Amino acid sequence: MNSRALVLFSGGQDSTTCLAWALERYQHVETVAFAYGQRHAVELDCRLKVLDEFRAQFARWRGKLGDDHLLDLSLLGQISDTALTQDKAIEFEKNGLPNTFVPGRNLLFLTFAATLAYRRGLEVLVGGMCETDFSGYPDCRDNTLKALQVALSLGLASPMVIETPLMWIDKAATWRLAESLGGTALVDLIIEQTHTCYLGDRSVRHAWGYGCGSCPACELRAHGHAAFRAQAGPA
Ligand code: ZN
Repeated sequence: MNSRALVLFSGGQDSTTCLAWALERYQHVETVAFAYGQRHAVELDCRLKVLDEFRAQFARWRGKLGDDHLLDLSLLGQISDTALTQDKAIEFEKNGLPNTFVPGRNLLFLTFAATLAYRRGLEVLVGGMCETDFSGYPDCRDNTLKALQVALSLGLASPMVIETPLMWIDKAATWRLAESLGGTALVDLIIEQTHTCYLGDRSVRHAWGYGCGSCPACELRAHGHAAFRAQAGPA
């Protein structure tokens, strides 16, 4: 059985839920994030707070949570022209993809993560990619990641498993998964500490957390949270 995992942990709702999922499942869990010239580094600050809160609030996870890594991929910001890395409005391109798509980002992230995991003796990569209510990013697709898992395992001459616990669930189910893993404490932690907004806005606190409330990431998060609360019934 695999027991050592590396979670791609950006400090958002999805990757925080994945981190909890991994801590319930594996004996040793490390985290990695990438600085790639994203316009708003606020999520990189949020992730450190989330890690502190995990250690403070969840005794059963504290001893499993290992080193955190931050890799500098600023090259990606230099070679891609997108609304996540340049100061431009979010809109849809002619090919139907939003201009928040950083081409090949997840392929690069997972490949660098695999290199790190190999060095650290970690056998599983965990990512929050999702095909259910995603923005159409082709590098979030299950088949893309299955192919990459094969390529990495061959290229490293060592099995490297890619786990994507959110692949087939929607945002409401992601909130439910967090609740099942860490109860109300984890749901509250995600609301207060994680960051999803594309615009880096943390000036307004909504029922679902901080954000501008109108970018695609905020809308997904808000709708998912509303559905989660509606399914749960009145508090
Ligand atoms: Zn937003």
